Amino acid sequence: MSNDDGLRKDAAFREHTRNSAEFALDLLDNVPGHMWSMDPAGRFIYRNRSMDAYFGNGLQDLGAWLERIHKDDQRFVATTWRRSMDAGEPFDSAHRLRGADGAFRWFRASGRPSRDAHGRVTVWHGQTIDIEHQKKAEESLRARSVELSLLVDMVPSNLWRLTPDGTTTLVNRRMADYLGLDLSNVSDVASVMDTIFHPDDADAVYAELTRCLATGERFSMRYRLLRADGVYRWMSGRAEPMRDQDGNIVQWFGLCHDIEDQVQTTAALRRSAEKLARATQAANLSQLSASIAHEVNQPLAAIAADADACLRWLSAEPANIERGKRAAERITLDVAATVEVVSRIRALFKHQPQSRAVEDVNRLVYEVLDLMSDEIAATTTRIDLVLDQHLPKVALDRVQVQQVLVNLIRNGIQAMDTTNPLRSLKIVSSHDHLDTIRISVEDTGSGFKDPERVFEPFFTTKGNGMGMGLPICRSIVEAHGGKLWVANNETLGATVTFALPVASAT
Ligand code: ADP
Repeated sequence: MSNDDGLRKDAAFREHTRNSAEFALDLLDNVPGHMWSMDPAGRFIYRNRSMDAYFGNGLQDLGAWLERIHKDDQRFVATTWRRSMDAGEPFDSAHRLRGADGAFRWFRASGRPSRDAHGRVTVWHGQTIDIEHQKKAEESLRARSVELSLLVDMVPSNLWRLTPDGTTTLVNRRMADYLGLDLSNVSDVASVMDTIFHPDDADAVYAELTRCLATGERFSMRYRLLRADGVYRWMSGRAEPMRDQDGNIVQWFGLCHDIEDQVQTTAALRRSAEKLARATQAANLSQLSASIAHEVNQPLAAIAADADACLRWLSAEPANIERGKRAAERITLDVAATVEVVSRIRALFKHQPQSRAVEDVNRLVYEVLDLMSDEIAATTTRIDLVLDQHLPKVALDRVQVQQVLVNLIRNGIQAMDTTNPLRSLKIVSSHDHLDTIRISVEDTGSGFKDPERVFEPFFTTKGNGMGMGLPICRSIVEAHGGKLWVANNETLGATVTFALPVASAT
Protein backbone atom coordinates (compact mmCIF):
# COMPACT_ATOMS: atom_id res chain seq x y z
CA MET A 1 0.00 0.00 0.00
CA SER A 2 2.80 2.38 0.80
CA ASN A 3 3.99 2.12 -2.81
CA ASP A 4 0.54 2.90 -4.15
CA ASP A 5 0.24 5.73 -1.73
CA GLY A 6 3.63 6.98 -2.88
CA LEU A 7 2.51 6.74 -6.49
CA ARG A 8 -0.76 8.45 -5.79
CA LYS A 9 1.01 11.37 -4.21
CA ASP A 10 3.12 11.67 -7.33
CA ALA A 11 2.39 14.87 -9.24
CA ALA A 12 2.52 13.22 -12.69
CA PHE A 13 0.07 10.55 -11.56
CA ARG A 14 -2.31 13.13 -10.25
CA GLU A 15 -1.99 15.13 -13.41
CA HIS A 16 -2.86 12.10 -15.62
CA THR A 17 -5.65 10.82 -13.50
CA ARG A 18 -7.39 14.04 -12.93
CA ASN A 19 -10.16 12.62 -15.03
CA SER A 20 -9.98 9.11 -13.64
CA ALA A 21 -12.73 7.62 -15.86
CA GLU A 22 -10.97 8.75 -19.00
CA PHE A 23 -7.66 7.46 -17.67
CA ALA A 24 -9.10 4.05 -16.78
CA LEU A 25 -10.78 3.62 -20.18
CA ASP A 26 -7.62 4.61 -21.97
CA LEU A 27 -5.67 2.13 -19.89
CA LEU A 28 -8.16 -0.70 -20.52
CA ASP A 29 -8.16 -0.06 -24.25
CA ASN A 30 -4.43 -0.25 -24.46
CA VAL A 31 -3.50 -3.18 -22.27
CA PRO A 32 -2.77 -6.30 -24.33
CA GLY A 33 -5.78 -8.64 -24.34
CA HIS A 34 -9.53 -8.34 -24.15
CA MET A 35 -10.92 -6.61 -21.04
CA TRP A 36 -14.56 -6.84 -20.20
CA SER A 37 -17.19 -6.48 -17.48
CA MET A 38 -20.49 -8.28 -17.28
CA ASP A 39 -23.49 -7.98 -15.01
CA PRO A 40 -24.59 -11.02 -13.00
CA ALA A 41 -27.19 -11.76 -15.71
CA GLY A 42 -24.38 -12.24 -18.24
CA ARG A 43 -24.83 -8.97 -20.19
CA PHE A 44 -21.69 -7.12 -21.15
CA ILE A 45 -21.49 -3.70 -19.61
CA TYR A 46 -18.01 -3.08 -20.88
CA ARG A 47 -15.68 -4.49 -23.60
CA ASN A 48 -12.42 -2.83 -24.47
CA ARG A 49 -11.53 -1.80 -27.98
CA SER A 50 -9.38 -4.79 -28.82
CA MET A 51 -12.19 -7.14 -27.83
CA ASP A 52 -14.63 -5.44 -30.16
CA ALA A 53 -12.00 -5.35 -32.86
CA TYR A 54 -11.49 -9.12 -32.57
CA PHE A 55 -15.17 -10.05 -32.66
CA GLY A 56 -16.11 -7.49 -35.30
CA ASN A 57 -19.43 -6.29 -33.98
CA GLY A 58 -19.95 -5.90 -30.26
CA LEU A 59 -20.99 -8.97 -28.35
CA GLN A 60 -24.06 -8.40 -26.26
CA ASP A 61 -23.95 -11.14 -23.74
CA LEU A 62 -22.44 -14.36 -22.50
CA GLY A 63 -24.67 -16.39 -24.82
CA ALA A 64 -23.31 -14.58 -27.89
CA TRP A 65 -19.81 -15.12 -26.57
CA LEU A 66 -20.38 -18.84 -26.03
CA GLU A 67 -21.51 -19.11 -29.66
CA ARG A 68 -18.10 -17.89 -30.73
CA ILE A 69 -16.40 -20.66 -28.80
CA HIS A 70 -15.25 -23.70 -30.74
CA LYS A 71 -17.89 -26.41 -30.52
CA ASP A 72 -15.41 -28.89 -29.03
CA ASP A 73 -14.75 -26.49 -26.12
CA GLN A 74 -18.25 -25.08 -25.69
CA ARG A 75 -19.74 -27.57 -23.28
CA PHE A 76 -16.74 -27.55 -20.98
CA VAL A 77 -16.48 -23.75 -20.93
CA ALA A 78 -20.20 -23.24 -20.39
CA THR A 79 -20.28 -25.61 -17.41
CA THR A 80 -17.11 -24.17 -15.86
CA TRP A 81 -18.36 -20.61 -16.16
CA ARG A 82 -21.83 -21.40 -15.05
CA ARG A 83 -20.55 -23.20 -11.98
CA SER A 84 -18.22 -20.30 -11.07
CA MET A 85 -20.84 -17.66 -11.62
CA ASP A 86 -23.42 -19.52 -9.56
CA ALA A 87 -20.88 -19.92 -6.75
CA GLY A 88 -19.48 -16.43 -7.18
CA GLU A 89 -16.01 -17.91 -7.61
CA PRO A 90 -13.32 -16.71 -10.07
CA PHE A 91 -13.05 -18.75 -13.24
CA ASP A 92 -10.30 -19.53 -15.64
CA SER A 93 -10.37 -21.52 -18.86
CA ALA A 94 -8.53 -22.02 -22.12
CA HIS A 95 -10.52 -22.42 -25.33
CA ARG A 96 -10.72 -21.50 -29.00
CA LEU A 97 -12.60 -18.38 -30.05
CA ARG A 98 -13.76 -17.45 -33.54
CA GLY A 99 -12.77 -13.95 -34.56
CA ALA A 100 -14.41 -11.62 -37.07
CA ASP A 101 -12.30 -13.20 -39.84
CA GLY A 102 -13.92 -16.59 -39.12
CA ALA A 103 -10.66 -18.13 -37.85
CA PHE A 104 -10.32 -19.70 -34.44
CA ARG A 105 -7.52 -18.80 -32.04
CA TRP A 106 -6.73 -20.09 -28.58
CA PHE A 107 -7.51 -17.75 -25.64
CA ARG A 108 -7.26 -17.94 -21.90
CA ALA A 109 -10.27 -16.28 -20.23
CA SER A 110 -10.46 -15.44 -16.56
CA GLY A 111 -13.07 -13.55 -14.60
CA ARG A 112 -13.52 -12.36 -11.05
CA PRO A 113 -16.63 -11.13 -9.25
CA SER A 114 -16.88 -7.66 -7.69
CA ARG A 115 -19.22 -7.35 -4.68
CA ASP A 116 -21.20 -4.65 -2.91
CA ALA A 117 -21.16 -3.90 0.80
CA HIS A 118 -23.53 -6.84 1.41
CA GLY A 119 -21.31 -9.28 -0.40
CA ARG A 120 -23.58 -9.54 -3.43
CA VAL A 121 -21.91 -9.89 -6.80
CA THR A 122 -22.60 -6.70 -8.69
CA VAL A 123 -20.37 -7.21 -11.68
CA TRP A 124 -17.84 -9.62 -13.24
CA HIS A 125 -14.56 -8.23 -14.52
CA GLY A 126 -12.40 -10.28 -16.77
CA GLN A 127 -9.58 -10.58 -19.16
CA THR A 128 -9.08 -12.80 -22.22
CA ILE A 129 -5.56 -13.25 -23.54
CA ASP A 130 -4.49 -14.70 -26.89
CA ILE A 131 -2.45 -17.86 -26.22
CA GLU A 132 -2.41 -19.16 -29.81
CA HIS A 133 1.40 -19.18 -30.09
CA GLN A 134 1.85 -20.82 -26.73
CA LYS A 135 -0.72 -23.52 -27.65
CA LYS A 136 0.92 -24.13 -30.99
CA ALA A 137 4.30 -24.50 -29.27
CA GLU A 138 2.78 -26.86 -26.68
CA GLU A 139 1.11 -28.90 -29.40
CA SER A 140 4.23 -29.26 -31.46
CA LEU A 141 6.13 -30.20 -28.30
CA ARG A 142 3.51 -32.80 -27.47
CA ALA A 143 3.53 -34.10 -31.05
CA ARG A 144 7.31 -34.34 -30.95
CA SER A 145 7.29 -36.17 -27.67
CA VAL A 146 4.61 -38.59 -28.96
CA GLU A 147 6.69 -39.08 -32.08
CA LEU A 148 9.82 -39.64 -30.02
CA SER A 149 8.22 -42.14 -27.70
CA LEU A 150 6.77 -43.92 -30.75
CA LEU A 151 10.23 -44.00 -32.22
CA VAL A 152 11.69 -45.30 -28.97
CA ASP A 153 9.06 -48.03 -28.93
CA MET A 154 9.39 -48.87 -32.60
CA VAL A 155 13.17 -49.11 -33.01
CA PRO A 156 14.07 -52.75 -33.49
CA SER A 157 16.22 -52.76 -30.35
CA ASN A 158 15.76 -52.85 -26.62
CA LEU A 159 16.33 -49.45 -25.06
CA TRP A 160 16.70 -48.47 -21.42
CA ARG A 161 17.65 -45.51 -19.29
CA LEU A 162 19.50 -45.47 -16.00
CA THR A 163 20.16 -42.84 -13.37
CA PRO A 164 23.86 -42.08 -12.70
CA ASP A 165 23.72 -44.53 -9.78
CA GLY A 166 22.36 -47.31 -11.98
CA THR A 167 18.63 -47.34 -11.25
CA THR A 168 16.52 -48.18 -14.28
CA THR A 169 14.03 -45.43 -15.01
CA LEU A 170 12.78 -46.40 -18.43
CA VAL A 171 12.64 -49.30 -20.85
CA ASN A 172 11.00 -49.15 -24.26
CA ARG A 173 7.99 -51.25 -25.22
CA ARG A 174 10.05 -53.77 -27.11
CA MET A 175 12.24 -54.44 -24.09
CA ALA A 176 9.23 -54.55 -21.75
CA ASP A 177 7.59 -57.10 -24.06
CA TYR A 178 10.79 -59.15 -24.15
CA LEU A 179 11.08 -59.15 -20.37
CA GLY A 180 7.34 -59.51 -19.84
CA LEU A 181 7.02 -56.30 -17.85
CA ASP A 182 4.19 -53.91 -17.25
CA LEU A 183 5.50 -50.65 -18.66
CA SER A 184 3.19 -48.55 -16.54
CA ASN A 185 5.04 -49.52 -13.41
CA VAL A 186 8.61 -48.27 -13.56
CA SER A 187 9.50 -49.49 -10.08
CA ASP A 188 8.55 -53.00 -11.23
CA VAL A 189 10.93 -52.55 -14.10
CA ALA A 190 13.75 -51.46 -11.79
CA SER A 191 13.16 -54.36 -9.40
CA VAL A 192 13.40 -57.15 -12.01
CA MET A 193 16.65 -55.83 -13.40
CA ASP A 194 18.48 -57.93 -10.81
CA THR A 195 17.12 -61.20 -12.13
CA ILE A 196 17.19 -60.90 -15.89
CA PHE A 197 20.80 -61.83 -16.58
CA HIS A 198 21.94 -65.40 -16.99
CA PRO A 199 23.47 -66.57 -13.67
CA ASP A 200 26.78 -67.26 -15.45
CA ASP A 201 26.91 -63.73 -16.86
CA ALA A 202 25.33 -61.69 -14.06
CA ASP A 203 28.46 -61.11 -11.96
CA ALA A 204 30.50 -60.01 -14.95
CA VAL A 205 27.70 -57.71 -16.18
CA TYR A 206 27.26 -56.04 -12.76
CA ALA A 207 31.01 -55.68 -12.29
CA GLU A 208 31.43 -54.06 -15.70
CA LEU A 209 28.37 -51.84 -15.24
CA THR A 210 29.59 -50.72 -11.82
CA ARG A 211 32.98 -49.91 -13.29
CA CYS A 212 31.45 -47.92 -16.16
CA LEU A 213 29.08 -46.04 -13.83
CA ALA A 214 32.07 -45.10 -11.67
CA THR A 215 34.41 -44.11 -14.49
CA GLY A 216 31.91 -42.81 -17.05
CA GLU A 217 33.36 -45.12 -19.68
CA ARG A 218 31.13 -46.64 -22.34
CA PHE A 219 29.60 -50.01 -21.44
CA SER A 220 29.82 -52.72 -24.08
CA MET A 221 29.24 -56.41 -23.41
CA ARG A 222 27.62 -59.59 -24.60
CA TYR A 223 25.33 -61.40 -22.19
CA ARG A 224 22.32 -63.65 -22.02
CA LEU A 225 19.02 -62.00 -21.11
CA LEU A 226 15.97 -63.80 -19.76
CA ARG A 227 12.93 -63.64 -22.07
CA ALA A 228 9.39 -63.61 -20.67
CA ASP A 229 8.97 -67.30 -21.64
CA GLY A 230 12.00 -68.31 -19.53
CA VAL A 231 14.44 -68.64 -22.42
CA TYR A 232 17.83 -66.89 -22.28
CA ARG A 233 18.99 -65.25 -25.49
CA TRP A 234 22.35 -63.69 -26.29
CA MET A 235 22.35 -59.91 -26.49
CA SER A 236 24.95 -57.38 -27.44
CA GLY A 237 24.53 -54.48 -25.01
CA ARG A 238 25.92 -50.96 -24.99
CA ALA A 239 25.37 -47.91 -22.82
CA GLU A 240 26.61 -44.34 -23.07
CA PRO A 241 26.44 -41.60 -20.45
CA MET A 242 24.64 -38.34 -21.20
CA ARG A 243 26.35 -35.34 -19.65
CA ASP A 244 25.28 -31.80 -18.79
CA GLN A 245 27.21 -28.68 -19.81
CA ASP A 246 29.61 -29.10 -16.90
CA GLY A 247 30.39 -32.66 -17.91
CA ASN A 248 28.43 -34.27 -15.07
CA ILE A 249 26.61 -37.47 -15.98
CA VAL A 250 22.87 -36.86 -15.89
CA GLN A 251 21.75 -40.26 -17.06
CA TRP A 252 22.76 -43.31 -19.05
CA PHE A 253 21.14 -44.55 -22.22
CA GLY A 254 21.51 -48.17 -23.11
CA LEU A 255 20.64 -50.33 -26.03
CA CYS A 256 20.83 -54.06 -26.51
CA HIS A 257 20.03 -56.12 -29.52
CA ASP A 258 19.40 -59.79 -29.92
CA ILE A 259 22.36 -61.68 -31.39
CA GLU A 260 21.13 -65.16 -30.51
CA ASP A 261 20.74 -66.23 -34.14
CA GLN A 262 24.13 -64.87 -34.99
CA VAL A 263 25.69 -66.67 -31.99
CA GLN A 264 23.95 -69.91 -32.92
CA THR A 265 25.05 -69.65 -36.53
CA THR A 266 28.66 -68.98 -35.51
CA ALA A 267 28.58 -71.89 -33.05
CA ALA A 268 27.07 -74.18 -35.68
CA LEU A 269 29.68 -73.07 -38.20
CA ARG A 270 32.42 -73.66 -35.65
CA ARG A 271 31.04 -77.10 -34.80
CA SER A 272 30.81 -78.11 -38.41
CA ALA A 273 34.33 -76.77 -39.10
CA GLU A 274 35.62 -78.86 -36.20
CA LYS A 275 33.68 -81.92 -37.32
CA LEU A 276 35.05 -81.47 -40.78
CA ALA A 277 38.60 -81.15 -39.45
CA ARG A 278 38.17 -84.31 -37.37
CA ALA A 279 36.56 -86.17 -40.23
CA THR A 280 39.37 -85.13 -42.57
CA GLN A 281 41.91 -86.30 -40.04
CA ALA A 282 40.16 -89.63 -39.60
CA ALA A 283 39.70 -90.01 -43.35
CA ASN A 284 43.38 -89.22 -43.90
CA LEU A 285 44.36 -91.82 -41.34
CA SER A 286 42.24 -94.62 -42.76
CA GLN A 287 43.27 -93.74 -46.31
CA LEU A 288 46.84 -93.67 -45.19
CA SER A 289 46.68 -97.07 -43.48
CA ALA A 290 44.98 -98.57 -46.54
CA SER A 291 47.64 -97.21 -48.84
CA ILE A 292 50.47 -98.28 -46.48
CA ALA A 293 49.06 -101.78 -46.43
CA HIS A 294 48.70 -101.78 -50.20
CA GLU A 295 52.15 -100.36 -50.95
CA VAL A 296 53.99 -102.60 -48.48
CA ASN A 297 51.97 -105.70 -49.33
CA GLN A 298 53.00 -105.74 -52.97
CA PRO A 299 56.79 -105.96 -52.45
CA LEU A 300 56.23 -108.30 -49.48
CA ALA A 301 54.21 -110.68 -51.66
CA ALA A 302 56.96 -110.54 -54.29
CA ILE A 303 59.61 -111.22 -51.60
CA ALA A 304 57.62 -114.20 -50.34
CA ALA A 305 57.22 -115.60 -53.89
CA ASP A 306 60.93 -115.11 -54.69
CA ALA A 307 62.05 -116.65 -51.38
CA ASP A 308 59.83 -119.61 -52.14
CA ALA A 309 61.35 -119.99 -55.61
CA CYS A 310 64.85 -119.57 -54.25
CA LEU A 311 64.24 -122.35 -51.75
CA ARG A 312 62.80 -124.61 -54.45
CA TRP A 313 65.80 -124.09 -56.83
CA LEU A 314 68.31 -124.69 -54.08
CA SER A 315 66.61 -127.80 -52.69
CA ALA A 316 66.16 -129.40 -56.14
CA GLU A 317 68.25 -132.49 -57.04
CA PRO A 318 70.63 -131.31 -58.33
CA ALA A 319 70.35 -127.78 -56.88
CA ASN A 320 70.00 -125.08 -59.52
CA ILE A 321 72.44 -122.57 -58.10
CA GLU A 322 72.08 -120.14 -60.99
CA ARG A 323 68.28 -119.87 -60.73
CA GLY A 324 68.51 -119.73 -56.90
CA LYS A 325 71.00 -116.84 -57.19
CA ARG A 326 68.68 -114.92 -59.51
CA ALA A 327 65.75 -115.42 -57.12
CA ALA A 328 67.92 -114.17 -54.24
CA GLU A 329 68.89 -111.09 -56.32
CA ARG A 330 65.21 -110.35 -56.96
CA ILE A 331 64.64 -110.56 -53.17
CA THR A 332 67.33 -107.89 -52.63
CA LEU A 333 65.61 -105.64 -55.22
CA ASP A 334 62.20 -106.21 -53.59
CA VAL A 335 63.60 -105.33 -50.19
CA ALA A 336 65.07 -102.12 -51.61
CA ALA A 337 61.64 -101.29 -53.08
CA THR A 338 60.01 -101.92 -49.71
CA VAL A 339 62.48 -99.61 -47.97
CA GLU A 340 61.66 -96.98 -50.58
CA VAL A 341 57.93 -97.35 -49.93
CA VAL A 342 58.47 -97.04 -46.19
CA SER A 343 60.61 -93.92 -46.52
CA ARG A 344 58.02 -92.37 -48.85
CA ILE A 345 55.38 -93.03 -46.18
CA ARG A 346 57.62 -91.44 -43.54
CA ALA A 347 58.07 -88.40 -45.74
CA LEU A 348 54.32 -88.20 -46.02
CA PHE A 349 54.06 -88.30 -42.22
CA LYS A 350 56.53 -85.45 -41.95
CA HIS A 351 53.71 -83.04 -42.78
CA GLN A 352 55.63 -80.96 -45.23
CA PRO A 353 54.19 -77.48 -44.78
CA GLN A 354 51.98 -76.55 -47.68
CA SER A 355 52.04 -72.80 -47.67
CA ARG A 356 54.24 -70.69 -45.50
CA ALA A 357 53.64 -67.07 -44.64
CA VAL A 358 55.33 -64.78 -42.14
CA GLU A 359 53.02 -64.73 -39.15
CA ASP A 360 52.74 -63.34 -35.66
CA VAL A 361 52.23 -66.41 -33.49
CA ASN A 362 50.57 -64.30 -30.77
CA ARG A 363 47.87 -63.50 -33.31
CA LEU A 364 47.42 -67.19 -34.04
CA VAL A 365 46.97 -67.73 -30.28
CA TYR A 366 44.19 -65.12 -30.20
CA GLU A 367 42.53 -66.61 -33.28
CA VAL A 368 42.58 -70.11 -31.82
CA LEU A 369 41.19 -68.86 -28.48
CA ASP A 370 38.42 -67.12 -30.38
CA LEU A 371 37.71 -70.30 -32.34
CA MET A 372 37.58 -72.30 -29.12
CA SER A 373 35.76 -69.66 -27.07
CA ASP A 374 32.59 -71.78 -26.68
CA GLU A 375 34.55 -74.83 -25.57
CA ILE A 376 36.54 -72.73 -23.09
CA ALA A 377 33.40 -71.00 -21.78
CA ALA A 378 31.55 -74.30 -21.45
CA THR A 379 34.31 -75.68 -19.24
CA THR A 380 34.71 -72.38 -17.34
CA THR A 381 38.46 -72.53 -17.82
CA ARG A 382 40.39 -69.37 -17.02
CA ILE A 383 42.92 -68.50 -19.68
CA ASP A 384 46.00 -66.51 -18.62
CA LEU A 385 47.99 -65.02 -21.45
CA VAL A 386 51.62 -64.05 -20.97
CA LEU A 387 52.51 -63.06 -24.50
CA ASP A 388 55.80 -61.53 -25.52
CA GLN A 389 54.85 -58.28 -27.22
CA HIS A 390 58.08 -58.28 -29.22
CA LEU A 391 57.79 -61.81 -30.48
CA PRO A 392 59.58 -62.06 -33.84
CA LYS A 393 57.40 -63.24 -36.71
CA VAL A 394 57.90 -66.72 -38.07
CA ALA A 395 57.26 -68.22 -41.50
CA LEU A 396 54.82 -71.00 -40.98
CA ASP A 397 51.82 -72.83 -42.27
CA ARG A 398 49.16 -71.05 -40.21
CA VAL A 399 46.57 -73.81 -40.43
CA GLN A 400 49.01 -76.43 -39.22
CA VAL A 401 50.31 -74.31 -36.34
CA GLN A 402 46.73 -73.44 -35.39
CA GLN A 403 46.06 -77.17 -35.37
CA VAL A 404 48.98 -77.63 -32.93
CA LEU A 405 47.62 -74.89 -30.65
CA VAL A 406 44.07 -76.30 -30.75
CA ASN A 407 45.39 -79.75 -29.83
CA LEU A 408 47.54 -78.54 -26.95
CA ILE A 409 44.81 -76.28 -25.52
CA ARG A 410 42.19 -79.00 -25.84
CA ASN A 411 44.48 -81.60 -24.20
CA GLY A 412 45.14 -79.13 -21.36
CA ILE A 413 41.43 -78.48 -20.83
CA GLN A 414 40.65 -82.19 -20.93
CA ALA A 415 43.39 -82.94 -18.38
CA MET A 416 41.74 -80.69 -15.81
CA ASP A 417 39.01 -82.04 -13.57
CA THR A 418 35.79 -80.03 -14.00
CA THR A 419 35.49 -79.79 -10.23
CA ASN A 420 38.94 -78.22 -9.93
CA PRO A 421 38.36 -74.61 -8.82
CA LEU A 422 41.87 -73.72 -10.03
CA ARG A 423 41.10 -74.72 -13.62
CA SER A 424 43.33 -72.41 -15.53
CA LEU A 425 45.44 -72.61 -18.61
CA LYS A 426 48.45 -70.39 -19.09
CA ILE A 427 49.72 -69.68 -22.57
CA VAL A 428 53.15 -68.12 -22.68
CA SER A 429 55.05 -66.85 -25.69
CA SER A 430 58.69 -65.81 -25.53
CA HIS A 431 61.80 -65.52 -27.63
CA ASP A 432 65.46 -65.87 -26.85
CA HIS A 433 68.71 -64.57 -28.26
CA LEU A 434 69.11 -67.76 -30.29
CA ASP A 435 66.32 -66.51 -32.49
CA THR A 436 63.88 -69.13 -31.39
CA ILE A 437 60.36 -68.46 -30.33
CA ARG A 438 58.70 -70.62 -27.72
CA ILE A 439 55.05 -71.20 -27.02
CA SER A 440 54.02 -73.16 -23.99
CA VAL A 441 50.64 -74.32 -22.80
CA GLU A 442 50.59 -74.91 -19.09
CA ASP A 443 47.64 -76.55 -17.34
CA THR A 444 46.69 -77.34 -13.76
CA GLY A 445 45.48 -80.84 -14.56
CA SER A 446 46.51 -84.39 -13.82
CA GLY A 447 49.95 -84.24 -15.44
CA PHE A 448 51.34 -86.88 -17.83
CA LYS A 449 51.13 -90.38 -16.39
CA ASP A 450 53.33 -91.87 -19.06
CA PRO A 451 55.31 -89.00 -20.60
CA GLU A 452 57.65 -91.38 -22.45
CA ARG A 453 54.87 -92.84 -24.54
CA VAL A 454 52.71 -89.86 -25.44
CA PHE A 455 54.37 -89.39 -28.84
CA GLU A 456 53.72 -92.99 -29.84
CA PRO A 457 51.01 -93.02 -32.51
CA PHE A 458 47.67 -94.27 -31.15
CA PHE A 459 48.76 -93.99 -27.50
CA THR A 460 45.82 -92.62 -25.56
CA THR A 461 44.44 -92.79 -22.04
CA LYS A 462 41.08 -91.31 -23.07
CA GLY A 463 38.04 -93.41 -23.76
CA ASN A 464 37.32 -91.57 -26.97
CA GLY A 465 40.90 -90.50 -27.75
CA MET A 466 42.69 -91.33 -30.97
CA GLY A 467 46.20 -90.92 -29.64
CA MET A 468 47.34 -89.07 -32.76
CA GLY A 469 47.21 -85.49 -31.43
CA LEU A 470 50.68 -85.19 -29.93
CA PRO A 471 52.50 -87.23 -32.65
CA ILE A 472 50.90 -85.05 -35.33
CA CYS A 473 51.74 -81.86 -33.37
CA ARG A 474 55.34 -82.96 -33.04
CA SER A 475 55.65 -83.85 -36.71
CA ILE A 476 54.14 -80.47 -37.71
CA VAL A 477 56.55 -78.59 -35.46
CA GLU A 478 59.52 -80.64 -36.67
CA ALA A 479 58.53 -80.01 -40.27
CA HIS A 480 58.90 -76.32 -39.43
CA GLY A 481 62.41 -77.00 -38.15
CA GLY A 482 61.29 -76.80 -34.53
CA LYS A 483 60.89 -79.02 -31.47
CA LEU A 484 57.98 -80.01 -29.24
CA TRP A 485 58.30 -81.54 -25.79
CA VAL A 486 56.23 -82.25 -22.70
CA ALA A 487 56.97 -82.02 -18.99
CA ASN A 488 55.06 -82.35 -15.77
CA ASN A 489 54.94 -79.24 -13.60
CA GLU A 490 56.54 -79.33 -10.18
CA THR A 491 53.32 -78.90 -8.29
CA LEU A 492 50.29 -79.40 -10.48
CA GLY A 493 49.61 -80.17 -14.11
CA ALA A 494 51.72 -80.35 -17.21
CA THR A 495 53.35 -78.05 -19.73
CA VAL A 496 53.70 -78.70 -23.43
CA THR A 497 56.18 -76.44 -25.19
CA PHE A 498 57.16 -75.99 -28.78
CA ALA A 499 59.96 -73.92 -30.23
CA LEU A 500 60.16 -72.60 -33.76
CA PRO A 501 63.30 -71.16 -35.26
CA VAL A 502 62.94 -67.60 -36.42
CA ALA A 503 65.58 -68.35 -39.04
CA SER A 504 63.14 -70.68 -40.75
CA ALA A 505 61.21 -67.55 -41.63
CA THR A 506 63.61 -66.66 -44.38
P1 ADP B 1 44.38 -88.06 -27.41
O1 ADP B 1 44.12 -86.71 -26.89
O2 ADP B 1 43.48 -88.47 -28.52
O3 ADP B 1 44.45 -89.11 -26.32
P2 ADP B 1 47.09 -87.16 -27.80
O4 ADP B 1 48.16 -87.69 -28.66
O5 ADP B 1 46.80 -85.73 -27.96
O6 ADP B 1 45.82 -88.04 -28.09
O7 ADP B 1 47.45 -87.43 -26.28
C1 ADP B 1 47.92 -88.67 -25.91
C2 ADP B 1 47.82 -88.85 -24.42
O8 ADP B 1 48.71 -87.98 -23.76
C3 ADP B 1 46.47 -88.54 -23.86
O9 ADP B 1 45.57 -89.62 -23.96
C4 ADP B 1 46.80 -88.21 -22.40
O10 ADP B 1 46.97 -89.40 -21.64
C5 ADP B 1 48.18 -87.60 -22.51
N1 ADP B 1 48.10 -86.14 -22.47
C6 ADP B 1 48.10 -85.30 -23.52
N2 ADP B 1 48.07 -84.02 -23.09
C7 ADP B 1 48.04 -84.04 -21.74
C8 ADP B 1 48.04 -83.06 -20.69
N3 ADP B 1 48.01 -81.75 -20.97
N4 ADP B 1 48.05 -83.47 -19.41
C9 ADP B 1 48.08 -84.79 -19.10
N5 ADP B 1 48.10 -85.77 -20.04
C10 ADP B 1 48.09 -85.42 -21.33
